[in-house]
Amino acid sequence: MSTRRKLVVGNWKMHGSHAANAELLQGILAGGPVNADLAVCVPFPYLSEVAVTLANSNVAWGAQDVSAHEQGAYTGEVSAGMLREFGCRYAIVGHSERRAYHGETDQVVADKAKAALSKGITPIVCVGETLAQREAGETEAVVKRQLSAVIHALGHCVGEMVVAYEPVWAIGTGKVATPEQAQAVHALLRAQLRAAAPQADNMKILYGGSMKPDNAPTLLAQPDIDGGLIGGAALKAADFLAIARAA
Ligand code: PGA
Repeated sequence: MSTRRKLVVGNWKMHGSHAANAELLQGILAGGPVNADLAVCVPFPYLSEVAVTLANSNVAWGAQDVSAHEQGAYTGEVSAGMLREFGCRYAIVGHSERRAYHGETDQVVADKAKAALSKGITPIVCVGETLAQREAGETEAVVKRQLSAVIHALGHCVGEMVVAYEPVWAIGTGKVATPEQAQAVHALLRAQLRAAAPQADNMKILYGGSMKPDNAPTLLAQPDIDGGLIGGAALKAADFLAIARAA
């Protein structure tokens, strides 16, 4: 069993409203302390109110994306420096929805991770294979390639990122990876990190993809699964807390 403290992150995606966010956060805060680090990654417009609600709590907050650029003529983008002003601790980068719908390449994802770290924001770097890639036996090659671009860009700062393994076929589908499938990939990623960073054994590798209260305990019991990146189940305080308690 690892001694790494677990991290459970809610990825709200494009969900929420003033009223819904307030209710969700009050529900999470009312749950009391859990034996894991918690964070919510929220849509940009809500960062400031979430920062106010969560100030002085044990729940951190972050963004779901960050620009690779520092400032300038990049309409619609949000820089790491701006996120820092809102007290963001984390930024998700390279989520498969951004790779698929916004054409983000491995290099763009790597540049975003670097931009986040340059402002003291921990990038949660997502990697994962599609169903077609898994069926073609390409899982290992795909996740290695995705992680390798980030390792190369971060250099001596590799140890400061969080990695999330999110098999694309498990995201939002209800088809969760088995604990064995997930652990196998996490072990590969850990080995790749060990070759690049002396702190690899202290780094967190989260699992994401249909993690729910019922499957969380066995996933989180795997030696290289250090927490979860939670989509759908992060929108209900009771479910999010139940996963956090399983950690
Ligand atoms: P899901 O999403 O838990 O709804 O599958 C996870 C994610 O996309 O981060």
